[in-house]
Amino acid sequence: MAILVTGGAGYIGSHTCIELLNSGYEIIVVDNFSNSKPEALKRVSELTKKSFKSYNVDLLDQVTLEKVFFENHIESVIHFAGLKAVGESVETPLRYYHNNITGTVVLCELMQKYNVKKLVFSSSATVYGTPKYVPITEDFSLQSINPYGRTKLMIEEILRDLHLSDDNWSIALLRYFNPIGAHESGRIGEDPNGIPNNLMPYITQVAIGKRENLNIFGKDYNTHDGTGVRDYVHVVDLAKGHLKALEKIINSTGIDAFNLGTGIGYSVLDVVKIYENVTSRKIPYNFTHRRSGDIDKCYADPTKANKELGWKASKNLEDMCRDSWRWQKNNPEGYNEEIKEKI
Ligand code: NAD
Ligand code: UDP
Repeated sequence: MAILVTGGAGYIGSHTCIELLNSGYEIIVVDNFSNSKPEALKRVSELTKKSFKSYNVDLLDQVTLEKVFFENHIESVIHFAGLKAVGESVETPLRYYHNNITGTVVLCELMQKYNVKKLVFSSSATVYGTPKYVPITEDFSLQSINPYGRTKLMIEEILRDLHLSDDNWSIALLRYFNPIGAHESGRIGEDPNGIPNNLMPYITQVAIGKRENLNIFGKDYNTHDGTGVRDYVHVVDLAKGHLKALEKIINSTGIDAFNLGTGIGYSVLDVVKIYENVTSRKIPYNFTHRRSGDIDKCYADPTKANKELGWKASKNLEDMCRDSWRWQKNNPEGYNEEIKEKI
């Protein structure tokens, strides 16, 4: 019996594959490598000393995806595959709706056909839109403020309808806060294409000298130092959360949402300061205007995941910064080994 991991070559997927393999699960990966490299999977295998099947398949290609279900004995699915850049989703909404929503519908149709009804889905704190206050609990009202967020919200609703139609389904909706960090080996990590949209990969590229300055988006937010506050969670802690969710859905039915965050909010300036301390690199920065759609504070109340999944983040922001830096320093060009230089 295997766990199908869609998007398993991506940032969170590859870290989760390591945890699954190290815990003795058999895995099968499906990825179209639209935002990842096969090299990530090679390294997962190298780090775990385990082999597994992977398929270069697009979820939208139902015929080929069906072969994966036909050829393997799949027990559960962890579904990471999706496009995730907010700005891009505003520019190309149809591509986002098609890839994320249709991709999920195609996957669920095949799961239903092959009687695989256990699913862990990558949702996001973005489904809370602009929360009225913090920390955020799972029962807050949901709203989304951009096409990417709407795909997550709509998929959550589709999955609720699916469970309503057939209560044999068992589904965990994991609402991630801000995943950062990398595997402590420094062999796998986040490998963004082009200019990073997110804070931590941008900082690491400033640290390595690829970018001159960090632009801090706004200094007049209602926070302790005026810069935006987020709940950064180590990607390895997040990966472990998927194993806890998997254990739960394997042993029950139902659909439920869980916040995966630390419960602690750090501002942009806090992150810069801690990054500088643990890496001894200087991060020059400028203040620029607010980024459209950004909110002042977003952090989780992770009590439900603590109580019902037995999950708690164990790594702190220092660990996250240190591991992000190790990955960046050892892989200045990400998975593009051929242009790697020694720092
Ligand atoms: P990622 O881009 O690194 O990984 C996603 C993977 O899915 C990539 O390997 C990509 O090639 C693959 N993929 C995309 N569309 C596909 C398709 N149609 N068929 C097959 N493969 C496809 O992203 P990530 O950071 O690892 O995020 C994983 C999931 O978690 C995504 O669904 C994302 O929306 C969600 N999420 C991420 C964050 C974050 O900050 N990283 C926060 C909240 C939620
Ligand atoms: N941020 C910033 N400069 C950047 C990228 C991000 O100041 O180059 C800020 C952003 O305004 C937010 C925080 O860093 O307050 C986290 O942003 P990120 O895009 O990583 O996560 P999200 O906004 O999706 O929570």
